[in-house]
Amino acid sequence: MRPDNEHLIELLSTKGEEALQELYKQAYEVKKQFVGTTVYFRGLIELSNICTKNCYYCGIRSGNPEFQRYQLSYEEAMAEAIWCYENHYGSLVIQAGEREDKAWTDFITRLIKGVKEATNGKLGITLSLGEQTEDIYRQWFEAGAHRYLLRIETTNRDLYKQLHPADHSFAHRLACLRILKKLGYQVGTGVMVGLPGQSIANIADDILFFYDEDVDMLGMGPYIPHHGTPLKHLVEGFNGKAALELGLKMIAACRIALKDVNIATTTALQALHPEGRELGLMAGANVLMPNITDTKYREGYQLYEGKPCLDENANQCISCLSRRIASIGETIGFDEWGDSRHFTKRQE
Ligand code: SF4
Repeated sequence: MRPDNEHLIELLSTKGEEALQELYKQAYEVKKQFVGTTVYFRGLIELSNICTKNCYYCGIRSGNPEFQRYQLSYEEAMAEAIWCYENHYGSLVIQAGEREDKAWTDFITRLIKGVKEATNGKLGITLSLGEQTEDIYRQWFEAGAHRYLLRIETTNRDLYKQLHPADHSFAHRLACLRILKKLGYQVGTGVMVGLPGQSIANIADDILFFYDEDVDMLGMGPYIPHHGTPLKHLVEGFNGKAALELGLKMIAACRIALKDVNIATTTALQALHPEGRELGLMAGANVLMPNITDTKYREGYQLYEGKPCLDENANQCISCLSRRIASIGETIGFDEWGDSRHFTKRQE
């Protein structure tokens, strides 16, 4: 049943510690019932911070001269993928800025095939590489990728226009999401919450959009301003506590409304609270993306301020995460793809 707009607004407007804990508890019950309490890992490789786009909220946008741009070599990326496999992560996420040139798209195809070959097809591959043509999406799907994350960032057309240069098209992004679905990918999207000019009603509309587009996975985060963007004036006066709370409320409302989708607890939550990702799990998320990118590159991949674990290597990351997950009574789905149950149902 389509979620009720008024009810979503009510959930997202929850205030006061007691009521918030009640909301998270309710979402956790829905999570237990529909997806269980196993956390699925996707090892995150930040393959490159080169991006042809210039989204106004993003630290690695093409117009920010501050960063030295990097791209991992094929060998470096393969080594990280194999580390992931040997450490029993079920899946990998390959993420980078957006590029459509042939050298890049061919590099990705080669990498997908290489990972599949080196892991006997066992490591699941999620891509997060932005808008591409249908042919490229198909090429990558046929090479072995089976999930794709493409965040819509906001479903409010006016807000989208305000946050992007004129040549960044909402309609095109939406068309890409639909193409991905048609091709057979498990499709993930998401939004930022707490954007300047965004209302609670806008966020409720985002959830209705997820429902209407029948998405399988969600990756959402609180908006955190970055000093290297046109929105830098928002850095001062940024309220991290309120941003964290809204991020958690969004996870909880999505879990209650959408039930069986996979929801990631993102590092943006951890940037706001040392246990932000665990709080995300307790509010209804069930997927975690530990960063396995070589620490020497992490400094260059800061989409927002205060990104955590910049100097923590993948080995440190896994032991710290295992402890944290055990401490909240959940288990890790080692060696499992942890596909979206919503997707499986959609296929039946
Ligand atoms: S949000 Fe994505 S597409 Fe936009 S500038 Fe940042 S990396 Fe590029």
